[in-house]
Amino acid sequence: GTASNNLDAFWMPFTANRQFKANPRMLVSAKGMHYTNAEGGKVLDGTAGLWCVNAGHSPDRIVKAVSEQIAEMDYAPAFQMGHPKVFELAARISAMLPNGLDHVFFTNSGSESVDTALKIALAYHRAKGDGTRTRLIGRERGYHGVGFGGISVGGIVANRKTFGTLLTGVDHMPHTHLPEKNAFSRGIPEHGGDLADELERIVTLHDASTIAAVIVEPVAGSTGVILPPKGYLQRLRDICDKHGILLIFDEVITGFGRLGASFATEYFGVKPDMITMAKGLTSGTIPMGGVICSKEIYDTFMNGPENMIELFHGYTYSGHPVAAAAGLATLDVYKEEGLFERANDLAGYWEDAVHSLKGAPHVIDLRNLGLIGAIELEPIPGKPTARAFEAFLKCYEKGVLIRTTGDIIALSPPLIIEKEHIDQIFDTIRTVLGEIA
Ligand code: PMP
Repeated sequence: GTASNNLDAFWMPFTANRQFKANPRMLVSAKGMHYTNAEGGKVLDGTAGLWCVNAGHSPDRIVKAVSEQIAEMDYAPAFQMGHPKVFELAARISAMLPNGLDHVFFTNSGSESVDTALKIALAYHRAKGDGTRTRLIGRERGYHGVGFGGISVGGIVANRKTFGTLLTGVDHMPHTHLPEKNAFSRGIPEHGGDLADELERIVTLHDASTIAAVIVEPVAGSTGVILPPKGYLQRLRDICDKHGILLIFDEVITGFGRLGASFATEYFGVKPDMITMAKGLTSGTIPMGGVICSKEIYDTFMNGPENMIELFHGYTYSGHPVAAAAGLATLDVYKEEGLFERANDLAGYWEDAVHSLKGAPHVIDLRNLGLIGAIELEPIPGKPTARAFEAFLKCYEKGVLIRTTGDIIALSPPLIIEKEHIDQIFDTIRTVLGEIA
C-alpha cells in the first residue's frame, strides 16, 4: 500500500476522520467505568462505549469466560452443528421476555439483526401465502444500522443518499414526537401518543394488505434520544394488530437494562412480534447480536410450505462459541450484580442530574429515561454540530467521555455507575458549557 502512516491506513469515515487525524484520541485500556488513553489519562465513560458496555469495562467474569472458551473450543459451525452454550444463551434470553417471544436467531451486530428481522418478516408473510405484503415501514430519524435493510428503513437521509439504490417499497412515518424546543420534559412526554395515528394514514394510503412490518426503536438513541410519548407504542401495536402487520422493536440500545428493565418491551408493557438486539448482549466485549421471534412466527415457518423449510439465512459466526460464552457471562454479571435494578434505582438521581443543566448556557432541551440522557444545544447558525463537538473535545480533555449526535449530547453510562461519577459527568459538562462559545 501507499498509506504514509497508520492513521492513513485505517479509514474511518464514521468518526469524522479529518477532525480525528488532527487530534487523535487513542484509547489503550479500560476497566470498570474508565478508559485509559495513550497519554496515560483516565477518562470516565459517560457513554458505555457506543451504548454497549452496560456491565462496565472488562469485568473479570466475562474476561475469564471468554479466555476459557477460546482455549476449549474456538469455533463450531452453526450449520447442521451446534454447541451447548448458544442454546443455553437463547433459553436465558427468552426467559427474560414475555411468553411467546421464545425463539432466538444469533447474528454478529445490530445491523445484521435488523436485516435478519426484515427478511424474517417478508418470509413469514410468504409462508402464510400472503406474498403481497412486502412494504416495510420505518420512521424519520430512526437508526437501524448500516445494512441495506437498515439504511432503507432508517430515517437518516445522509446515510442513504450516497448509495443511489436502496430497498424499494419502504415508507417512513414522521418522527412526529420530535422534542419541542424548551420542552424539558422529565421521562416520557405525557402527551403525543396519538401521533402513532400517522401509521393509520400510511396504512390507508397503501392498503394494509401490502404492508409486512413496522420497525421502530422504542427509544431512538443514535439520532438524539427521542422518547415515545405516553401511549404511543401501544397505539402502534393496536394499529399493527388491526391490519395484520408485524411490529419489530429495535432494542439494540434499549435491551439489557438501559431503561432499568431487561428490555423496553417490559418497561413499556408493549409486546412486539420481533425484537432485535446486540450491544448489551455481550456488554460490548465480543461482537454478537440477535433477533427474538414470536412463537407465531416460528410456528408459521415450521408448518409453512416446503420452500420455507429450505430457507437459508445465517452467518458463519451465528452463535459463535466465544460470543455465546461472553453472552452467558454477561447475563451472569447483570443478574449477580443486580444491574438492571441498579439502573432503575439510579434513574431518579440521573434524571435530576440531567435536568440540573436547565438554564446552563446553550441548552435548549433536556431529556432522560432510565440511564439515558440528552442535552440539546442551540446550534451555532451556519455551523451545525460545531458547538456540541467543541463540548465533546473539552469534556474529553477534562477526563469525561460524552457522545454527540448533531448538536445533541447523548449520555448512556455503564450500569455500574456510582453517584459520584454521575456528579462528575454533569459537573464537567456544566463547566464546559460555560467555557465554549
Ligand atoms: N439499531 C439500533 C437501534 C442501533 O442503535 C444500532 C447501533 N447504534 C444499530 C441498530 C446497529 O448496530 P451495529 O452498529 O452493531 O450494527
